Amino acid sequence: MTDIAGNIEKVRDQIAEAASQAGRPADSVKLMLAAKYQPLENLEAAVAAGVTLFGHNIVQQLVTASTGLAAAGIATTNTVIGPVQSNKMRAAMDHASRIDTVDSVKAATRIARRQAARIADGAPAEPFPILLQVNSADASTQSGCAPAALLEIASEISELELVRIDGLMTIGANTDDLAAIHQSFQLTRELGEQLRKLPGLAGATELSMGMTHDLAIAVAEGSTVVRVGTAVFGPRPRP
Ligand SMILES: *Cc1c(COP(=O)(O)O)cnc(C)c1O
Repeated sequence: MTDIAGNIEKVRDQIAEAASQAGRPADSVKLMLAAKYQPLENLEAAVAAGVTLFGHNIVQQLVTASTGLAAAGIATTNTVIGPVQSNKMRAAMDHASRIDTVDSVKAATRIARRQAARIADGAPAEPFPILLQVNSADASTQSGCAPAALLEIASEISELELVRIDGLMTIGANTDDLAAIHQSFQLTRELGEQLRKLPGLAGATELSMGMTHDLAIAVAEGSTVVRVGTAVFGPRPRP
């Protein structure tokens, strides 16, 4: 059995240590658990250990988990951290409080349209929160907009009334080269600083970066939310 509570404590210590070395308060970094392929009981164990923020890659798993936890009377915050097909967007928005993988004006426009429909169906008349995903390491295997295109895309999306940009998300360089990892996160932080100078985007402060193997580097580079799977749940179960 994986000691989920013990692992969460270790990850929290790691975050606190990295934050302290960077001269940041430990509570300036949130812990999001990457929930893909985890059975409900593992998510419940995480909640019992005090973590209620989950990131989902797969919309069907988001729906199952958020419905199951709600039915058990457990309040959680669920976010989408994987690509969303257009026919799954409405379900994603009905079950997640933010979509962190928006990388085009087209995707944001789709979200704005779905949000108008949700409001017509009785949802609160508010914009839907998103993060813009940046391909900060220029990796052909990763989603996210090109760093050079980010500000133009952000500027166009900021005109959409029913979408709200809360910040940036990146996966970063997938390598053992620590300097390359630092560089991809630093680039993302700098893009965040430029983003906040655009009209209406001063509040876009979220910086989602860092996973099991590189969370300390991400915190050193200004991450406000790390997405951790393996370090908490152990090796992932497969479908
Ligand atoms: C799976 C996943 C994570 C967590 O990865 P670990 O290495 O298991 O911590 C973080 N972000 C995204 C987008 C993921 O898909």
